[in-house]
Amino acid sequence: MSSLFVRTLREDPVDAEVPSHRLLVRAGYIRRAAPGIYTWLPLGLRVFRKVEAIVREEMDAMGAQELQFPALLPREPYEATNRWTEYGPNIFRLQDRKGGDYLLGPTHEEMFTLVVKDLYSSYKDLPVWLYQIQTKYRDEARPRAGLMRGREFVMKDSYSFDVTDAGLDASYAAHRAAYVRTFDRLGFDYVVVRATSGAMGGSRSEEFLASSEVGEDTYVRCTTCDYAANVEAVQVPAPAPVAHDDVPAAHAEKTPDTPTIATLVDHLNEAYPREDRPWHAGDTLKNVLVVLKHADGTREPLAIGLPGDREVDQKRLEGMLEPTEVEPMDEAEFARHPALVKGYIGPGALGSEQASGIRYLLDPRVGEGTRWVTGADTPGSHVIDLVAGRDFTGDGTIEAAQVRDGDACPQCATEGRDGVLETARGIEMGHIFQLGRKYAEALDLKVLDENGKLVTVTMGSYGIGVSRAVPVIAEDNHDELGLVWPREVAPADVHLVATGKDSAVFEAAATLADALAAEGVEVIYDDRPKVSPGVKFKDAELIGVPTIVTVGRGLVDGNVEVKDRRSGVRTEVPVGEAVAHLVGVVRG
Ligand code: ATP
Ligand code: MG
Repeated sequence: MSSLFVRTLREDPVDAEVPSHRLLVRAGYIRRAAPGIYTWLPLGLRVFRKVEAIVREEMDAMGAQELQFPALLPREPYEATNRWTEYGPNIFRLQDRKGGDYLLGPTHEEMFTLVVKDLYSSYKDLPVWLYQIQTKYRDEARPRAGLMRGREFVMKDSYSFDVTDAGLDASYAAHRAAYVRTFDRLGFDYVVVRATSGAMGGSRSEEFLASSEVGEDTYVRCTTCDYAANVEAVQVPAPAPVAHDDVPAAHAEKTPDTPTIATLVDHLNEAYPREDRPWHAGDTLKNVLVVLKHADGTREPLAIGLPGDREVDQKRLEGMLEPTEVEPMDEAEFARHPALVKGYIGPGALGSEQASGIRYLLDPRVGEGTRWVTGADTPGSHVIDLVAGRDFTGDGTIEAAQVRDGDACPQCATEGRDGVLETARGIEMGHIFQLGRKYAEALDLKVLDENGKLVTVTMGSYGIGVSRAVPVIAEDNHDELGLVWPREVAPADVHLVATGKDSAVFEAAATLADALAAEGVEVIYDDRPKVSPGVKFKDAELIGVPTIVTVGRGLVDGNVEVKDRRSGVRTEVPVGEAVAHLVGVVRG
């Protein structure tokens, strides 16, 4: 510790909003270099390398082969797949001295596809699984929580190449199994959930989410069956068509001063009370207007119709429309559409065939025959008994409404049970998906099959956030005193503290440190002569090595103290047995 390049901090960094970020900075693991860009200090680098080693071991064990692409990439392959445009402002672009366009790779599908195309030409060469552990660059709109969402970060990405769909299924299953083994070793709680495949296209897709309150992803689990999904991937079961023969014709009614759902519901209950039950927000059809920012720079207004008791979930909406980004519609944009009457917008004005010409997408709950109260497109007026399918239709449906605790489970719904969903938060740590033939087609990756016929290869894509794993593990392994690393990724096995002024103590501690090192035990030895025991213990707790050994007062009785950082349990061990005891603890 007297020479280790580390300075622990007593104060939390001002920009750190989550515990892992605070602790990794305070304990001297990382330093910020720029927004979303971090330096690994020696302690941090040790943890990072251990995480990386686990990921590499499991990839090698499954039979994947490591290679490494450059991070600095030419534009052309990304042009061929249209991602130069689709990635929009999320990629770092640059030019060389001749004016040639380059990018810093955000992900490497193109490069993997091209290298296989370069070198392989027959079905006999396949399947092949390739991976790299490499630095990626994404100009994230919202870098966050230190290494959790960086603009420079390290990802393990692998790709499988197969001739047949069955082959792709097998490659996907092999990756899934390797991911389970990897995440079991990394030491945090996780769940595997259904996912959407986002900008990459493709079909079957699952995410490995670390369960965490501070996560940016919301997922659902069914309380009855094994259904689990990122909310972005939840598909609301389409309701069976509702009979509407007895519903009166739609009628517009005066509803003065009812620009919000709450004021409208109050007014309905006063002026037009229902016989069966009071009106509630879910009886109203709310129309939300947004502006889509397409990756090619064009903007498009969009209207979303959904039950009035639900909000639009921005992440779900963007997930559905990826790579397009979504903004709320501002006053200036509203003003450009005179057919829109704020607070009283209804299907009468919405849709590509209607007055505004604005594309209108409906929540699946607004199904055939459902009956709504909604804006009449004139100030202070709403329409009652407006029936979907009879009185209005949209331009399609969209899954953008928020998913709530207690919503029906889609899997149970199709299988005739009535399980309900509960929501929780998580951090995406890994994503596996079947890309299919999209990239192979775009880049013309074909091989000869058994019959000598050229066929397009089918691919899988599999990612792990290697640098993200460090804060994720820290998030799941800390207490009020500091970090509490799982042994497999800890920066050392033993944190050895020498206390007091007695030179015999320091000699015994140094001897113990050397003897442990000789056994292959990694030791951080706090040899600082003029630092108080209190400060040394605080640092040891903060740094979070799993075993803390104290050589101090007990030495006169021939003992050292061994403390388990996680449980706090202390054991007195005779100094002569300390090496054997600690080797046992470390090796488990
Ligand atoms: P997210 O939804 O968190 O932005 P993504 O869907 O963009 O992730 P992928 O492109 O599938 O992520 O990347 C594979 C893995 O890389 C992710 O599962 C995640 O662990 C990690 N990752 C992605 N973006 C970042 C980032 N900005 N910083 C750190 N790790 C990241
Ligand atoms: Mg992302």
